[in-house]
Amino acid sequence: MKKQRICIIGDGLSGLTSALALKNLQNIELDLILNEKKKIGDTRTTAISESNFQFLKTIIKNFNSKLFWPSKNIELFFETSKEQINFLNFEEGEKNLMYVCENKKFKSLLLREIKLKKIKILKKKVSNLNALKNYDLIIMCLGTKSPLYNKVTNGRTIGKDYKELALTGQIEKNLKFMKAGQYFLKDGPLAILPFSKNKFSFVWTISKDLFQSKSKNIKNFIEKKIKNILKINENIKIKHLKSYPIKLNLETKYFNDNALVLGDGLHRVHPVAGQGFNLVLRDIKQLKEIINYYSVLGIQFDNSQILNEFTKNRKPENILLGLGIDVTRSFFKKNNYLDPVKKIFLKNLNRIPYLKKISLKISDTGLNFN
Ligand SMILES: Cc1cc2nc3c(=O)[nH]c(=O)nc-3n(C[C@H](O)[C@H](O)[C@H](O)COP(=O)(O)OP(=O)(O)OC[C@H]3O[C@@H](n4cnc5c(N)ncnc54)[C@H](O)[C@@H]3O)c2cc1C
Repeated sequence: MKKQRICIIGDGLSGLTSALALKNLQNIELDLILNEKKKIGDTRTTAISESNFQFLKTIIKNFNSKLFWPSKNIELFFETSKEQINFLNFEEGEKNLMYVCENKKFKSLLLREIKLKKIKILKKKVSNLNALKNYDLIIMCLGTKSPLYNKVTNGRTIGKDYKELALTGQIEKNLKFMKAGQYFLKDGPLAILPFSKNKFSFVWTISKDLFQSKSKNIKNFIEKKIKNILKINENIKIKHLKSYPIKLNLETKYFNDNALVLGDGLHRVHPVAGQGFNLVLRDIKQLKEIINYYSVLGIQFDNSQILNEFTKNRKPENILLGLGIDVTRSFFKKNNYLDPVKKIFLKNLNRIPYLKKISLKISDTGLNFN
């Protein structure tokens, strides 16, 4: 059988991970196209669920577990005018619930493995899909927006502009019993993510208006808030402060002919639940299974069949989870009328073990309950 030619475009986490997932499939020839431009390093961290972490281990032979800091607990807090209510704690005995890794180190790990597996790398900026006519399947992992998507997605999206910014940064502090936490503050959700013994990152989503009003002293504003919620007396210093505009964008059309969109281009979700790349990893896992099925049987790619099957399998979950995350964000948004009711509801949440279990399951494996 003639080998089927696949090309993956994009050097973000989605493109690099897809290349590793698809590399060793039978009857496949794979090229990875990376942008020529030198990039400023990504100083964010990414939280990965247990099942996705296990999947990464299956596709990265020279996996370095030390780069991924495990958390066995995740604490959730709700800020009212008077107090900070710790309304839910996730833990499952000795089981790790998530792993946090610095994006820069994660990408280096993926690139090293790509070189070891001798995946063919082409360095160029693709500006027209016609230049890739010789491929049986084109996988575009080009981030949130690219003119190359226009031919595929038709602008049929579920979306909104939150008019918010996610502020991210890192803090070095030797804190005893540092735990991962999500703080639903009046100004917006703030995630605290330990990624080493004495370092943690944060993601705080606030409105653009608030950001503007504090822009002259934004570092000070964040440091004060973090000291306050973590009850730290000494000074702390933020490194690598960055901001990202936050939008919801859920595509309804995943492919056209033999070109598929994958990664943040398919679904861009609010960072409140740390699910963006976790959704991508579940997509990659599914795509790998479908392509493997066809290639093992030696069936020539009829791409619409493969890509139809992928869309049918992944679109409902991606849309449901994307909207679910949006509802979560709205629920915790400050509302003077509803906040007293929310407080009563949240105070009782820890007593409903089933709800806790189901939330944990969804954030680990999505809507796949097998
Ligand atoms: C603040 C924040 C915090 C987050 N935290 C988490 C978290 O804790 N957990 C989680 O699961 N997810 C999280 N996410 C989501 C996660 O960061 C993304 O899902 C992940 O980085 C995947 O991105 P990507 O590879 O799809 O896109 P990108 O990282 O944008 O990569 C796309 C790449 O394609 C390249 N490219 C574009 N056009 C071309 C072209 N024409 N030719 C060649 N190359 C091209 C670009 O240069 C770029 O490098 C977070 C997101 C944000 C904004």
